[in-house]
Amino acid sequence: MGNYVRQPVTFVSGRGCELFDDEGKRYLDGFSGVAVSVLGHSHPAIVEAVSRQVATLTHVSNHYQITEQERLAQRLVDLSFPGRVVFGNSGAEANEAAIKLARTWSNLRHGGTKPVLVAFEDGFHGRTIGALSITSTPAYREPFEPLLEARFLPYGDRSAAEAGIGEDVAAVFIEIIQGEGGVNTAPPGFLPYLRQLCDRVGALLVVDEIQTGIARTGTFLAYQQEDVTPDIITLAKGLGGGVPIGAVVASEDVAGLFTPGRHGSTFGGSPLACAAAHAVLDVVTAPGFNEHVQNMGSQLEAGLAALFSRKEVLGRGLLRGVRLDQPVSEVVEAAREQGLLVGPSAHNTLRIAPPLIISSEEIDELLTTLGKVVGS
Ligand SMILES: *Cc1c(COP(=O)(O)O)cnc(C)c1O
Repeated sequence: MGNYVRQPVTFVSGRGCELFDDEGKRYLDGFSGVAVSVLGHSHPAIVEAVSRQVATLTHVSNHYQITEQERLAQRLVDLSFPGRVVFGNSGAEANEAAIKLARTWSNLRHGGTKPVLVAFEDGFHGRTIGALSITSTPAYREPFEPLLEARFLPYGDRSAAEAGIGEDVAAVFIEIIQGEGGVNTAPPGFLPYLRQLCDRVGALLVVDEIQTGIARTGTFLAYQQEDVTPDIITLAKGLGGGVPIGAVVASEDVAGLFTPGRHGSTFGGSPLACAAAHAVLDVVTAPGFNEHVQNMGSQLEAGLAALFSRKEVLGRGLLRGVRLDQPVSEVVEAAREQGLLVGPSAHNTLRIAPPLIISSEEIDELLTTLGKVVGS
């Protein structure tokens, strides 16, 4: 169907941070297929794990026990907070499960007194009807109305949050960096403040880590840079390093709302998807990996600050943005012609999200190529 605006290029193979098109031209990947390919392309750990698993057992369904899924759930809990995990196949599906938890929180725990979902302006949570209901962008929403009841608050605004998060709220959904919405970062202290407000009225704090998680911002999860614990986090994008998998981690109390039969997914947490995710976690949780992302992120930030001298460099770690004066699509196109892949974000923002394994030399190459593009 005609729902995508595609660039006129066909990639046929990839290795590390490089992609090759069907004419043999090489590109440096500064976008990771929307922050997905955290280990780049054809990473030996993923190739080995997925090849081994597909030759052993691909799928059995959640009618049966899946040891690798249980082990992956335990790893995610150990990397976040005490709780339980349910798996799906995408970001929207993870948020959908979180919305269902929020609904049961209102309906089954609070007698239906908390019908409202709170989210933020410029936020993005996915394209299914539920996830779209908490996504503010009018162009994404309007053709599909009516949606679920949601209340959108200005991102990072404390007094609006205080006014908008009342007793009628089941859950507050927030991204630590709005990856699609312009690479906006909430001011420091905003997340702990939301935690206080949620505790005051008995609402759940749901952090959408779909784009910011899996070490993208220099810690395994972006919320971990502040002193706060969410009730729910949602994960997808980088978790499988390119193999589709989504996950929801919820505290024991909240996870207990999903009693047998209340939620399910045919494919979610298959042996194959879990094998890919284990390979990703093996690499990104190894000693020194977060420091690598922090260092590469600082180098990228400094280079972008020098290139765009009068502009603020947005984001953290290896999720970066710069607001442009010229149409971002022109820059994305010109960069591609020069062999560099970068992406757009809302508000005419250039988005840079390379594979997390990127080297210092490759960051230099990215900056040099981008310099030629903005120079011309
Ligand atoms: C990409 C994204 C989603 C949706 O993920 P899909 O896998 O495309 O459904 C949700 N939330 C955030 C923050 C995202 O970046």
